[in-house]
Amino acid sequence: MPEFVMKKKHFNIPVFIPQLACPFQCIYCNQRKICGKGEAPAMNEINKIINTHLTTIPEKGVETELAFFGGNFTGLPFTEQQAYLELAKPYIDSGRITGIRLSTRPDYINAEVLELLKKHHVTVIELGAQSLKDDVLKLSKRDHTEADVETASKMILDYGFTLGLQMMIGLPGDTLEKSLYTANRIIQFGAKQTRIYPTLVIRGTKLENLFLNNKYKPLSLEEAVSWSKKLLLIFEKAGVEVIRLGLHPSEGLLSGNEMIAGPFHPSFRELVLTEIWSEILNPILKSGGKSIEIHVAPGQLNYAIGYDGKNRKLIQQQYKKVNFYPDDNLEDRQFKTEIINH
Ligand code: SF4
Repeated sequence: MPEFVMKKKHFNIPVFIPQLACPFQCIYCNQRKICGKGEAPAMNEINKIINTHLTTIPEKGVETELAFFGGNFTGLPFTEQQAYLELAKPYIDSGRITGIRLSTRPDYINAEVLELLKKHHVTVIELGAQSLKDDVLKLSKRDHTEADVETASKMILDYGFTLGLQMMIGLPGDTLEKSLYTANRIIQFGAKQTRIYPTLVIRGTKLENLFLNNKYKPLSLEEAVSWSKKLLLIFEKAGVEVIRLGLHPSEGLLSGNEMIAGPFHPSFRELVLTEIWSEILNPILKSGGKSIEIHVAPGQLNYAIGYDGKNRKLIQQQYKKVNFYPDDNLEDRQFKTEIINH
């Protein structure tokens, strides 16, 4: 008898830990501004964040992760890391939180740290790889190399964690070719998840200086969407989940006027998926008629129609009437069309 395994619904409880005393100076980073908060939350505040989130999350049949984002977790003093992790213990013991995920730098992974994380139910470790081309890493003042990412990834996998590798596009010295290389290396290093962040120029960073002196040109929104489309398709094919495309529109960036330049869009992922569908639906544009019905999987309907109806508008140039329908019999990016000419 076939066995059906239902994937549990997933919830994240995000806690931002800005790196207040980060010894690095990555060219694009003003850590406090990127996550919109100046200070790391106190322990009792984290408890409040967790409890507030838990009131909105079902008690059973779900997967809930506590996610420490925003900095270089394993660069914190050992005792601080321990304190943050221990805070989650009662929730893990009671089953309300199923695991912990955190993000950190590739050169801050070692056996001692991994032992600590393992003991405290950390399940996913995300590394900020950003690029896997050493010249781009150097120009971005990341102070680590491709080899560091490879070594750290191997250790993380050897300890049985799920590996996430984040990448940025459009860093100084980056090209589409180098970004494609980075994506392929991320796959080879065994990552199961990734995030793709287009580089933005944030106030108070070295990149801002370069930009103001015409020494750095950010990607245009069109370029960032087009690169991301290619990367997303590569990751999808390899079974690597792209859990974020574009920076989260945090309040700090949007309300504080902190972004100087760069391809920011609040619906960046939707723009990328619109372009993927635009390519899929392109053959339709080669013919025309009175009316066309396009059936797609329910979860794909918005992307097929396109951000701001972009794809619908394109098709309307060839057909007087265009209707999109959700169809439960279709999955992923399958589609069916019916052209009516009477
Ligand atoms: S990106 Fe991370 S490592 Fe680089 S300066 Fe910012 S906090 Fe430090």
